[in-house]
Amino acid sequence: KDVINQIAAAEIIHRPANAIKELLENSLDAGSTSIKITVKDGGLKLLQITDNGHGINKADLPLLCERYATSKLHKFEDLQQLGTYGFRGEALASISYCSHVEVVTKTKNDGCGWKANYQDGVLIPAKPGAGPEPKPAAANDGTVITAEDLFYNMPLRKRAFKSPSDEYNRILDVVTKYAIHNPHAAWVCKKAGTALPDISTTVGSTAKANIASLYSPSLAAELLDVPLTTLQPENKLGAKCRGWVSNANSNWARKGGWLLFINNRLVESVKIKKAIEALYTAYLPKGASPWVYLSLEIDPAKIDVNVHPTKSEVHFLNEDEMIESLVDTVQTALAGANV
Ligand code: ADP
Ligand code: MG
Repeated sequence: KDVINQIAAAEIIHRPANAIKELLENSLDAGSTSIKITVKDGGLKLLQITDNGHGINKADLPLLCERYATSKLHKFEDLQQLGTYGFRGEALASISYCSHVEVVTKTKNDGCGWKANYQDGVLIPAKPGAGPEPKPAAANDGTVITAEDLFYNMPLRKRAFKSPSDEYNRILDVVTKYAIHNPHAAWVCKKAGTALPDISTTVGSTAKANIASLYSPSLAAELLDVPLTTLQPENKLGAKCRGWVSNANSNWARKGGWLLFINNRLVESVKIKKAIEALYTAYLPKGASPWVYLSLEIDPAKIDVNVHPTKSEVHFLNEDEMIESLVDTVQTALAGANV
């Protein structure tokens, strides 16, 4: 059973950046306005995320890392009503099957915090023979989750990561994108033991200000607005989009950037990416790409949730019509700037 769980875990947590994405989405789900990430050796040695969200009840700690135990999917209809990011209760379980997980958490109503350590889905008793009880711990309101020695039990996979700095850059990329999409929160990301963070934003910033500080001020200054638009045909999809795109003549366009959020989750859509990039091909030199940030809201009932949550490629109903409408919207933004 453990082998099966390990294989499943390795599929969900391909690399440290996947783990960070799952963890920061949990922090956002918990209503956090401060999210701090500390990384050692590209996340392979240590990933730590500290948030000031609503915390986890002590009673929920024993089963926190059990697969599906926290799943919010109780019946099929729930599949169509997914409001939050988390929906399968698999992320923490998976992380606990391929690293050593420690959770320290405190809710507003708790007098003190609680600490729990997990291995392969289960809470490790404090002493041999003791029950799976969390231990009291000093803590601020919120949650600190630490994952150490990622893939310690999967030597082949671990060896596949040749460059910790590569992995760290992937983590920075994910955190940067979420910081832009969630400017209400203060974000910090840094290497353990260094004083200066690589990402640092303040509470109540704006997406534009975060683009300026995390990418470049000149990029932020020249971005074209894609105003909030309801995508046709005729609201059939109940879809809305908004965002910013680089001017086709922009210098920044050469370097490119791609941020696609659907219902606040960072996702991939090869079809959308190709369709939007095609708008720029006439203007950009070969090999250059635009900088695009698009946020879509689609009725969750219309999104194909059979695609595994961590396979970030998404599909939805009436995809082609919807992409056509999205392309029109972006084209209007570009045309307004006389490219
Ligand atoms: P899912 O998000 O799919 O429910 P996860 O394994 O990602 O599954 O998380 C399990 C549960 O643990 C969440 O549903 C949530 O209730 C709780 N949880 C995880 N991280 C946090 C956090 N940072 N703050 C508060 N609750 C959390
Ligand atoms: Mg989750």
